[in-house]
Amino acid sequence: MRKKPQPILTDADIRRAMLLLTLLSVVISVGCSTLAVYINSNFDLSSTLSARKVFNDTLIISSLMPAIICPLVVHRLLTTVRDLNIARAELDRLARTDMLTGLLNRRGFDEASQAAVEQATEAGASIAVMLCDIDHFKRINDTYGHETGDRALKHVAGILRDVAASDPRLIAGRQGGEEFALTATGLTTRELARFAETIRATCSNTDFWDEGRHIPLTISIGTTIALPGDETLKQLIIRADAALYKAKGNGRNRVEASAPEAVAA
Ligand code: GH3
Ligand code: MG
Ligand code: MG
Repeated sequence: MRKKPQPILTDADIRRAMLLLTLLSVVISVGCSTLAVYINSNFDLSSTLSARKVFNDTLIISSLMPAIICPLVVHRLLTTVRDLNIARAELDRLARTDMLTGLLNRRGFDEASQAAVEQATEAGASIAVMLCDIDHFKRINDTYGHETGDRALKHVAGILRDVAASDPRLIAGRQGGEEFALTATGLTTRELARFAETIRATCSNTDFWDEGRHIPLTISIGTTIALPGDETLKQLIIRADAALYKAKGNGRNRVEASAPEAVAA
C-alpha cells in the first residue's frame, strides 16, 4: 500500500516546539535579569551614574530580547513549515487527480484500488472492476469540437462520481481519454451487474446539452468480479477490458460481464 507522505513536521510537533522554545526564551530572560540584579547589587561597577545606567539598560534589553524575538522568529518559522505541509498535501492530491474531470487519475485510481483490494483480501471480500468507454466519442469531437468533447467527458465523470458517492465500496477514476474505471469490493455478482446497468442507463437517459444542442451520449461497460486471492487487480482489469471489447462488438451502449464465477452475498 502507498505510504502517505509524512508532513515535514506534524501539528503536534509544531505545538511542542513552540512551547519548548517559548519556555527556553523565558528561562534565558529570567536568567539574564537575575544576573543583572546580582551584578548590580554586588559589584561596584562604576562610580558614575551614567555608566551604571548604560549597564542597567543593556542588561535589561539583553534579557528582554530573547523573550520577545525568539517566540516571534519561532512562530514565523513554524507557520512557514505548516504552510509547506499544506502545500505538499495539496500537491500530493493534485498528482492523483484528473484535472479535466476532478476524478482520480490513473495513478490515484491504481493506488486507491490497490489499497481497497488489500483490505478486501484481508476481509475475504470480493473484488470487482468495471471499465467504461464512451461510444463513438471521436464523432462527438469531430462533429461538435474538442471543447464540447471535454464537457461530455465531465458530464460522464459527474455520473460516475455520483454513483461512486452513493456507495463507499466504489472507487471511480479516469483511465485516460474517454475511458473510465471503477473498482468495487464486497459486491455480489448481482450488485455489480446492477451498478453497471445503473451507470449505463443513466448515461444513456441523462440529456447532455451543450451550447443549446442536445448531444446523444452512451457508454459501453465491461465488468468482472473475483474472490480475493483468485486474481490480481491487473488481471481483473485485463478481463474487464476483454468484456468491454465484447460490449463494443455487440453493438455498444451495453454491459458485458467477463464469464464470471458468481460471487454470492
Ligand atoms: P468506440 O465507440 O469504439 O470507443 O469509439 P471512440 O470514437 O469512442 O474511440 P476512439 O478510440 O476512436 O476515439 C477516442 C477519442 O477520444 C480520440 C481522442 O481524440 C479523444 N480524446 C482523448 N482524450 C480526450 C480529451 O481529453 N478530450 C477530448 N475532447 N477528446 C479526447
Ligand atoms: Mg477508448
Ligand atoms: Mg470510446
